[in-house]
Amino acid sequence: MNIHFDKNTDGLVPAIVQDAVTRNVLMLGYMNQEALSKTLETGKVTFFSRSKNRLWTKGEESGCFLTLVAIKEDCDKDTLLVSVNPTGPTCHTGADTCWQDVNNQSFGFVTELEKTIKQRKENGLSEKSYIASLFEKGINAIAQKVGEEAVEVIIEAKDKNDALFLGESADLLFHYLILLQAKGFTLQHVVDTLESRAR
Ligand code: AMP
Ligand code: ZN
Ligand code: ZN
Ligand code: ZN
Repeated sequence: MNIHFDKNTDGLVPAIVQDAVTRNVLMLGYMNQEALSKTLETGKVTFFSRSKNRLWTKGEESGCFLTLVAIKEDCDKDTLLVSVNPTGPTCHTGADTCWQDVNNQSFGFVTELEKTIKQRKENGLSEKSYIASLFEKGINAIAQKVGEEAVEVIIEAKDKNDALFLGESADLLFHYLILLQAKGFTLQHVVDTLESRAR
């Protein structure tokens, strides 16, 4: 890794720390060459602390270390993205992340789809939109549809046609997202529930 540790920035580059599993942004620190080398050697994320004016291994007092998973430089090699597994809360306030309120998981395209579903729920457009027409039929009809798609998944699971199995799985997920929205929920609520069980 050939990072530009510029004299103009005291030989420091910003290091954005991201949870390797949840992909939440955990904190921001600064690294110089020494901090980067120590991080790579020890596998424990080490910054250069501007307030302490020395190398600072995150967790050195609290015991809540950031175990290194991967480090990636940005396009012009002046910022680092540090992927980690935290051994405890990352923020000194005891929160999991320094941005507790803004860290909603994004499920990529599924999240985009959820936005579309929400719009159809709120705006109607039922002549043209299949989703809107489902919302018009109501929760029972939507739940029924989820049940039908689940049965189709069961049928295709017994077969060896991967394309059909994935197709019915997509139908199931799609209608399940609509059911969640009809009940006022999103996939995030379900994931939160799963996470709370793991604790
Ligand atoms: P720690 O490295 O977790 O043992 O914490 C040592 C000290 O570093 C704390 O008392 C805080 O002053 C500071 N600190 C810990 N975590 C953070 C953080 N996420 N962002 C900024 N400062 C922190
Ligand atoms: Zn850059
Ligand atoms: Zn914090
Ligand atoms: Zn189907």
